[in-house]
Amino acid sequence: ALVLGIESSCDETAAALVDGNRQIVAQRIASQDAEHAPFGGVVPEIAARAHAERLAPMIEGVLQDANVSLTDLDAIAATAGPGLIGGVMVGLVSAKALAMASDVPLIAVNHLEGHALSPRLADETLEFPYALLLVSGGHCQILRVDGVGEYRRLATTIDDALGEAFDKTAKILGLGFPGGPAVERLAREGDASAVPLPRPMKGSGEPHLSFAGLKSAVLRAHESEKYQPADIAASFQQAAIDCVVDRLSIALAKMQDCRTLVVAGGVAANASVRGALERLAASHDMRFTAPPPKLCTDNAAMIAWAGIERLALKDFAPDPLDISARPRWPLDPDAEPVRGAGV
Ligand code: ATP
Ligand code: MG
Ligand code: FE
Repeated sequence: ALVLGIESSCDETAAALVDGNRQIVAQRIASQDAEHAPFGGVVPEIAARAHAERLAPMIEGVLQDANVSLTDLDAIAATAGPGLIGGVMVGLVSAKALAMASDVPLIAVNHLEGHALSPRLADETLEFPYALLLVSGGHCQILRVDGVGEYRRLATTIDDALGEAFDKTAKILGLGFPGGPAVERLAREGDASAVPLPRPMKGSGEPHLSFAGLKSAVLRAHESEKYQPADIAASFQQAAIDCVVDRLSIALAKMQDCRTLVVAGGVAANASVRGALERLAASHDMRFTAPPPKLCTDNAAMIAWAGIERLALKDFAPDPLDISARPRWPLDPDAEPVRGAGV
């Protein structure tokens, strides 16, 4: 099978071709970091316009790179949400037009499902069920993944996502946007025990997460002028990791049949986060796997791969061409609402 994937839900415009043998046959990606940097965050209108300008030539580009035409495709998979609605619509409408024009099935992919299945694109030995920490700019959840389309959320953040906490810490320290990689870089030069910071939710019996208090403590530490920025970055990263490890150990106890711990989403690109999770998995006699960093942050290969996984289902049916873009779209619609949880 050969699937074209399209991603445009936030600030990366991306197209990729992936086949059933897990080969990324072609991929192109354009980040909008330069456009949004002056504003210190993603501006939805600017994002939508940039996607609209770049997507069509990019799709043409990947088809050319692989020397294939639309009619060679088994499906066109596009992110249909959740995300910034303007950008999502640009990608979904393009996919619909191409699907209609070439009579190729359309697959509307949940962006979070793209992240959730991305580890299986990178690691062919990864079988269901697995325990998943999904940590990105807008989401921070612990899930069990029982199969394609079968996600059960065990925990979520009650305030900020982990990537958001990295981005806010970067902003406080004046490191620019996007913040995660900059905080990770600076943290390497700092002392992680230099700044006393809280570990929100640590010890709580339910595995939910919280990072708003940590961010406020980072702000106070910075304003006190008592600490070096590198020490604040290192101490923040360590506190965040301690929280994640503590919350995960509670969640893992509730899914002991999952023998692999998996991390996905933009924050999974962080080497210290990966290292801590690898040690946690080892201490639980679990296997650990994470996609390579380029498959952790937003990309179209994971969307194409989600399409490949859907195509392989016994009851596969293409999505209707009038399917709507969804700004919000939970992976587990049955998850109980958590007090204070917006994501
Ligand atoms: P969502 O997937 O929830 O819709 P998104 O698509 O914006 O959000 P991703 O691209 O998956 O998110 O992840 C981006 C987030 O990951 C940002 O918050 C960014 O700071 C963070 N991030 C990226 N690289 C790193 C890193 N090396 N260390 C920590 N955080 C990182
Ligand atoms: Mg981005
Ligand atoms: Fe994402």
